[in-house]
Amino acid sequence: MRIAILSDVHANLEALEVVLADIRRRECDRIVCLGDFVGYGPNPNECVDLLSPLLAGRNVAGNHDWAAVGKLDITFFNPYAQEAILWTQQALRVAVQQYLTALPTEWSQDGPLPFLAVHASPRNPIEEYVLDAYTAGANFLLRPFALCFIGHTHMPAVWVQTRETVEARAFLADEELRLDPAFRYLINVGSVGQPRDGDPRASYAVLDSEAAVVRLVRLEYPLERTQEKMRVRDFRPCSPND
Ligand code: ZN
Repeated sequence: MRIAILSDVHANLEALEVVLADIRRRECDRIVCLGDFVGYGPNPNECVDLLSPLLAGRNVAGNHDWAAVGKLDITFFNPYAQEAILWTQQALRVAVQQYLTALPTEWSQDGPLPFLAVHASPRNPIEEYVLDAYTAGANFLLRPFALCFIGHTHMPAVWVQTRETVEARAFLADEELRLDPAFRYLINVGSVGQPRDGDPRASYAVLDSEAAVVRLVRLEYPLERTQEKMRVRDFRPCSPND
């Protein structure tokens, strides 16, 4: 089975459309979303409308999703994120609010190659940033997963627990990561709508569960169109029908 795993769409419709076209082209059997559907970008309703029917419940909440529906305090968000969340709170249609409110904090895939899916980290699914081997190691210790996919930092990365140690490995565009059954993996799939690793292309991953291979996909999208919409809206609060 080929499973597309994506995260941090952040209301960027142009990036999401390009990623979904690529998922269709690769004939993936299912899609899993690791949260942060909204926040920052100009099309929160459209992104949830387009993506949620394709997930069939294979989805989890991110910190921006919770903030957008009042489940998380935004005091510690950066000023840009705060402004975007206040705009998003005004813009969300009721059905989208309900969808985001009901998202679980984790989701598990069963089968021959089971995995855990969370937004931030296995021990703190909404808010923890896994940016170093120490934090990754603490998560390996706390939960018994063999394979877990995360997002949240917007930076693709692989953390591997070998027999001796926990080590970081880079995860580059079009790289195929072969999963060793003797090791454990924490894999960050990067961000669809707002990459922060210096590469502006949308990022997502495809897991081939029979071959036990994960590929990182990077895709160009018309980013100037998204930027133009953000300039026009200027993140001023608007009515739900705007
Ligand atoms: Zn995010």
